[in-house]
Amino acid sequence: MEENGKECSLCHGTGSLTCRGILVIYLLAAKVPLLIILVSLIGAITYSRYFYLMLGLGMVLPLARADFRMYLYPVALIAKLAGKKLNCPRCNPQGGMFRRF
Ligand SMILES: [Zn+2]
Repeated sequence: MEENGKECSLCHGTGSLTCRGILVIYLLAAKVPLLIILVSLIGAITYSRYFYLMLGLGMVLPLARADFRMYLYPVALIAKLAGKKLNCPRCNPQGGMFRRF
């Protein structure tokens, strides 16, 4: 599928996400909680146990925003490795997580 005459960078025009597309859609969508989790993990290991509280916050934040894509990332990656085709939300916003064909 073409988008403004340019090939979609997430699926290269095939409609099913590449590994990089999965990363962009599922993981980078949750930049802030991911950053909190990363910082608090490093803090907890090197500094103080209280950083684990912050880690909890980072895990809960996507729930509060009802954005579960971060948690779906491992699922999407495993499905991709197992040979399933993942729908590209940029080319086909109405589609579900997986392509039916
Ligand atoms: Zn696409």
